[in-house]
Amino acid sequence: MTLVVRGKRVIRPESSGPASIHIRDGVITAVDAFESVPAGAELLEAGESVVMPGLVDTHVHLNEPGRTEWEGFSSGTRAAAAGGVTTLIDMPLNSIPPTTTVRGLHAKVEAARNQCWVDIGFWGGVVPGNADQIEPLIAEGVFGFKCFLVPSGVEEFQHVTEADLRLALPLIAANRSLLLVHAELPGPIDLASTENSSRPGWPSRPSRRYGSYLASRPRAAENEAIELLIRMSREFSARIHIVHLSSADAIPELRAARAEGLPITVETCPHYLLFSAEEIPDGATQFKCAPPIRENENRERLWRALANGVIDFVTTDHSPCPVSMKSMESGDFFQAWGGITSLQLGLSSVWTEARRRGHSLEQVVVWLSTYPARVAGLQDRKGAIEAGKDADLVLFRPDAAIEWPHVLHHRHKLTPYEGRALTGIVERTILRGQTIYHEGEFAATPSGNILYGALHNLNKAAPLQAQSAFLRCCGSSKWAADMVSRRPYPNVRQLLEHADRVWNGLSAEDWLEAFRAHPRIGESSESKWSEEEQAGARLAATVTVSELATANRIYYERFGFIFIICASGRTADEMLEALRARLNNDRETELKNAAEQQRLITRLRLLKLLAP
Ligand SMILES: [Zn+2]
Repeated sequence: MTLVVRGKRVIRPESSGPASIHIRDGVITAVDAFESVPAGAELLEAGESVVMPGLVDTHVHLNEPGRTEWEGFSSGTRAAAAGGVTTLIDMPLNSIPPTTTVRGLHAKVEAARNQCWVDIGFWGGVVPGNADQIEPLIAEGVFGFKCFLVPSGVEEFQHVTEADLRLALPLIAANRSLLLVHAELPGPIDLASTENSSRPGWPSRPSRRYGSYLASRPRAAENEAIELLIRMSREFSARIHIVHLSSADAIPELRAARAEGLPITVETCPHYLLFSAEEIPDGATQFKCAPPIRENENRERLWRALANGVIDFVTTDHSPCPVSMKSMESGDFFQAWGGITSLQLGLSSVWTEARRRGHSLEQVVVWLSTYPARVAGLQDRKGAIEAGKDADLVLFRPDAAIEWPHVLHHRHKLTPYEGRALTGIVERTILRGQTIYHEGEFAATPSGNILYGALHNLNKAAPLQAQSAFLRCCGSSKWAADMVSRRPYPNVRQLLEHADRVWNGLSAEDWLEAFRAHPRIGESSESKWSEEEQAGARLAATVTVSELATANRIYYERFGFIFIICASGRTADEMLEALRARLNNDRETELKNAAEQQRLITRLRLLKLLAP
C-alpha cells in the first residue's frame, strides 16, 4: 500500500513548500502536489510541522561491543531516532575490539544486528600495522577509515604517523575510499605541556580551569596536522576528510586546498558552533573534548567558514562515557574523559544557533543530512526528499522550545547542553516509511538496517541486479555477464583490472553492442550519466553542437558505428577536433580507438558506481 506523508512545508533539494510524499516499500516513489493523494493510500498529515529528510550523522561513537556501559547500539540509536537522525555511521574506536580488522567489523555487525533503531554503517580504522586489513575491510563494507594523529585515549586504537599514512593512503586512494582524520599533531601539544613552565596561562595539571586545558591543546596542533594532510592528499590523490575542525586558523589553508581541487572535505560539530571557551565554568568537564572548544572569536570564524562552504557539514561527534569518568567531583579537566554527549540534540542545537544567525532550516538540512550523506557515499539513498530515496523523514517543529528537564535517551544524560535554551523539537521520525519515534514513544521493535559500502553491495547483489549495474557502465552483455560471474571482488583495483581484461578480449561484435548503448554526442539523452559526461557538449555554442551532430553523421556513415569518446573534461570544440581527426582513419584503426575510449568510459562509470 502507498503511504502519503504531506505537509505545508516539505524541504526538498530545490525548493520548499506544500507537497505530498508518496512512499511504497520504504522508498519515496514521488513527491507531488499537496492535493495528490492516490485512492486507498494511507495519509499522514504533518499539520504545522516541517517535513525534512532524516539526518545523517557520520560521526558517532556507540562503543559496543566492549564498552557498552559507555553507550551502546540500542540506547544510542534510540537517542538518534528521538533527535531526527535516521542514519548514522559508527566510529571504529572505543569498542573492543576496535574496527581495525575484518574480525573487529564482524564483531560490530553481530553486536548491532536487531538492536538498532536507525540505519547504521561503520567506519574502519587505520592504526599502525593494519595496512593489510584496509582492502579486506572495504570489501566487507566499511564506508572509509578513521585515524588519529595523536593518542586517541584508548590503548587498543593507536595513533598513526606520517610513515603509517604513507602505507595506508595508496591503498585508500586506489580503492577510491576515504580517510577521516582526527587532525591534531603531538608536537605542539607536547610543547604546550612542558612542565615547570612559568608562563602565565600555561597548562598546569591537575586543573579545574578550562583555560589550562585549552592551552594544552593549542591551535597549532590542528593547523600543522591539516598542513600535513593537505600535502598527503596532494601527493596520493587521496580523499581526506577532516573530522571535528575546531581551529579556525586552519581555514585559509583549507580554502586554498579546495581551490586547488584537492579532494578534502571538512566537518565541525555543534559544540564548537555553540559554546565558547570564555563561558565554560571551572570544573565543568562535560564541556571537555578534543580538540577543545575555543574562544568566541574562533567560533565566529567557524560559522563564516560553514556559511561559505569551506566547512562542508556538521556532525555531533557524540562520544559519551559513564559520568564517573567525567571526574565531576574533582572537576579536573586533565583527568576527565574527553567527549561530548549530544546525539539527540544535534538538530535542535545547530538549528537554534543557525537561526539566530539568519540561516534557514533548508541550509541546516544540507549541513546535517545532504552533505554528510554525500561524503559517506550514501547520496543515492539518503540525505534528501526525492523520488528513489529511502523514505527517511522528520516532522519537526522549528519554533517549539525545549523545556528542561528534557527526556534524553542517551545512556548517560550528562551533557553541556543541559539547561540551554534550544528551539526545535522532533515530533516524529520515519525510517524507510515506518514511524520509529513519535512524541516520546518508540516503535515496538527496532527496525534499523545495517548499511554497507558500495563494493560489498555489488559483490552481494543478486545476479540480475548486478548485471544491470554493470550494464549501466558498459553496454556489452557479454562483458557484464563476465563481470557478474567473477564476483566477489576483493578490492576495487582488481575489479578494474578484470574489467579491462574482459573488455580487451571481446570480439568486435561485442564492442559494437556496447557502442550502440550510447547516445550520440550532441544529441539529447535519457541517461543521467551520459548527461554529466557530456556536460562539455551541453555548454557549447549551438553552432558547435550542430557541427558535432553533422560530423557524427558522417562518421557513422563511414564506419557503421557512432563516434565514441571519453567526454569527461573535454569541451565540445575539443571533441569536434578529435572527431574530425579520427574521420581520416581506416575502419579497423577506428574500431580500436573507439574500444579504447569505451574502456576509459567504463572505468569512470565503475568508479562512480563504487565511490559515488
Ligand atoms: Zn570522535
